[in-house]
Amino acid sequence: DLQTESLSQFTPAMRQFVEIKRRYPEQLVLFRMGDFYETFFDDAAKANRLIGITLTKRGKMPDGTPIPMAGIPMVSLDQYVARLVKMGESVVIAEQQGVPGKGPTMERKISRIITPGTLTETALLPEKSDSVLLAVAAPKRRRKGDAGYGFVWLTLSSGDFRAENVSAEQFESELARIAPSEILVPEHLKQTLRDTHPELVLTSMPDWHFDAAHGEENLKKVFGLDNLDAWEIEGFPLVLEAANALLDYTAETQVDALPFIRPLKLVTENEFIVIDPASRRNLEISDTVRRDAGELTLFSVLDGCRSAMGSRELKRWLNQPLRGADAARARHDAIERLVTDTDDRARLSEALNALPDIERIASRIALGSVRPRELASLRDALPAVRALGAVFADSPAALFADLCRALAVPETVATLLREALLEEPAVQLRDGDVIASGFNEELKTLRDLRDNTGQFLLDLEARERQATGLSTLRVEFNKVHGFYIEVSKAQSKDVPLHYHRRQTLKNTERYITPELKSYEDKALSAKERSSALERELYLEVVKRLQPEVERLMAAASALSQFDALLSLAEHAIEYRWVKPRLTGRTGLSIAGGRHPVVETAIENYVPNDCRLDENRRMLVITGPNMGGKSTYMRSVALIVLLAWAGSFVPAASAEIGPVDRIHTRIGASDDLARGRSTFMVEMTEAATILHQATDRSLVLMDEIGRGTSTYDGLSLAAAIAQSLVEDARAYTLFATHYFELTKFAEELRGVANVHVAATQAKSRVVFLHEITEGPANRSYGIAVAQLAGVPPKVVRRAREVLRDLEAGKMPGMQPSLFDLPHDPLLDAPAADDFGDDAFEEKAPGVSPEDLRPFLDRVEALCATDLDSLTPRAALELLYGTLPAL
Ligand code: ADP
Repeated sequence: DLQTESLSQFTPAMRQFVEIKRRYPEQLVLFRMGDFYETFFDDAAKANRLIGITLTKRGKMPDGTPIPMAGIPMVSLDQYVARLVKMGESVVIAEQQGVPGKGPTMERKISRIITPGTLTETALLPEKSDSVLLAVAAPKRRRKGDAGYGFVWLTLSSGDFRAENVSAEQFESELARIAPSEILVPEHLKQTLRDTHPELVLTSMPDWHFDAAHGEENLKKVFGLDNLDAWEIEGFPLVLEAANALLDYTAETQVDALPFIRPLKLVTENEFIVIDPASRRNLEISDTVRRDAGELTLFSVLDGCRSAMGSRELKRWLNQPLRGADAARARHDAIERLVTDTDDRARLSEALNALPDIERIASRIALGSVRPRELASLRDALPAVRALGAVFADSPAALFADLCRALAVPETVATLLREALLEEPAVQLRDGDVIASGFNEELKTLRDLRDNTGQFLLDLEARERQATGLSTLRVEFNKVHGFYIEVSKAQSKDVPLHYHRRQTLKNTERYITPELKSYEDKALSAKERSSALERELYLEVVKRLQPEVERLMAAASALSQFDALLSLAEHAIEYRWVKPRLTGRTGLSIAGGRHPVVETAIENYVPNDCRLDENRRMLVITGPNMGGKSTYMRSVALIVLLAWAGSFVPAASAEIGPVDRIHTRIGASDDLARGRSTFMVEMTEAATILHQATDRSLVLMDEIGRGTSTYDGLSLAAAIAQSLVEDARAYTLFATHYFELTKFAEELRGVANVHVAATQAKSRVVFLHEITEGPANRSYGIAVAQLAGVPPKVVRRAREVLRDLEAGKMPGMQPSLFDLPHDPLLDAPAADDFGDDAFEEKAPGVSPEDLRPFLDRVEALCATDLDSLTPRAALELLYGTLPAL
């Protein structure tokens, strides 16, 4: 056991390793030894398993067992670390100190701790997503009236720092909105969260890190404040607890570097539209239900951003639609401006093209880890940034004017970068050739020495020959003896006094002079010294840039917004989206609405209207499967989301009222990981909605109740629908295959029926995808069965049975189930149907009456939703049908 093994047993290097490993038992420790970063013991086995590096041995334990070791070559460190972190691992890097080969044992010091939530390296970060670290504090024992959870989260690569007091009810939806890459939890919370959220990357910290008093001190210290009054967090001890853990952890992982962190912003409950995790998935905002990378999402169809920071901004907007209308309206106005003004659009596009990731570069300036090429790309981008500021400063769109103010990065930054950096600096600082020679006199001299030895020797030779008059004098250099002046034996008696003999050869004498000696010293160390000096100068440049990080971050944020707005404007033009009107009254009115993702994928998208208001709170949507019900419902939710996110919307016109939450209960999202059946998931989601929906919520319910037997399902669906209109009074789109629910329009206030229209062409159903007022005609089950290839005679027979049933000719059947409007399709002749004569011809001696039991069964089969059955139930159904044959 490494924790208890006596240190004296180990070699000095292993002792260092064990000491470090004891501090970081859960992380993978990469221990620098020469050209490798080595892992030992369990870490070695783990690294071998995760990234396939070869397992070997080094030395033995006191009891003689060999010590497992696996190493990563120094040059491939980034690449391997990237893979480990992607898998949710945290990595501790122990670097060698000092110069190898001097002194007894190399000292090692932790240089970086890389964890999924604290990434700042460009190579390790996903380009289009933020990497967020979230700390969650919770009381150890819950009592009534507890304040829920303290959430504090930080995006290190942008400095965004926020806090929220989260109620137990909000926990899931806030977690989904923040979408952290890593979560810090107190030890007492770890197991519960691990059980309920196996997919999260959790890092536990001893409970004492979650301390409110220290949190306050810590925040004051980091931000240099006397008090935290301006942040209004004093009433939230859990927030202070989480803040302390987060700051401690950040400080530890960044070792000596001080990250740029914006002042803490307290998120209030009403800031964003709440979207629960299931709805987030269902609406496929930036992840698809199947989470396939290639699938289209709202974000992927809208993202035409020029820069990665623009893409991240856009993703944040879509994932976090605002409740306040001002910000959304400002974006609408700005987009309108870009849509109408081709010149503005062209200028903006030009300025944004080839923009580097200034946000991430700025964060790395703060940490002192910025690379030379990153600074060069910043230098090259700054002129365009300033120019953009000038172009839009007087724009009629107020948002543009605001953004432009942030673009005024001080000219001194650009000047410094221009003067300090070479036109094309080396990739790594350690390679040298980063700082411009003109930036520093000494560097210039060193570089000249390094690069111009040849010329110096020629010059010196000419000078010395002239001064001494010795015709055989030559100045030369060799690796063994360094620089020397060579004179023939014959002329050696005439050399000046300050020539000191260095070496005597057969025919020549070699000398050194004080001047040449000092040149030699300089020249030989020039390369080393110029790299050291460059390093120093580079760090000085970075240090001089650090006070400007805040300005750079502000510019980056403005550019990201410009980029996101341009992308939205271009999409709006291409797909003829319109500016929505955000109203103060709840409800919505959409004309010619479309689904933003589906309309890009199919050719003849049929636009549809939707109107909801005080007196029309629920639409019961009926109609055939495949008719377009769920597409319609999602299109409405996405239009609402887009409008509040500040985008134009896919419609001919749209007025959208305030919305506090969007809830959807759509499809059977598998939750097998947590061992819950489809029906259980369905009901859990419905329960959440019933608890949380208000009279300002938008609720989508698709086919609720299909996961259980018909009567259970119908009863549940009816009760849920009723509760949504009467208790929550939420704005609800309720798609159902239970026709009984169409009666609600008469019985309950605020309910209306709409249906997806289908029509018949040559006795086949054709889906028009058109939403029309009123309940659907009969289910098109029989027509769909025909489409599916059920034999014509069976289809015809089924129609007869249905007609009898409707006429009440079959006593004993549940009348209510068939108490429905008449299906006009039933009266239509089926073109390829058999007549009775044809039937007699094909099956002599069998009367249609003989087939009645069979047809009954077929009707039952047709009415069954096979997808909702377990394989066993389907089998039973089949066995039930067979005897009738
Ligand atoms: P339902 O929920 O009624 O079973 P869907 O909404 O899943 O039906 O739609 C079925 C198919 O019809 C979709 O794959 C889509 O391509 C197409 N569709 C839906 N709505 C429209 C529309 N408004 N215009 C054109 N095609 C549509």
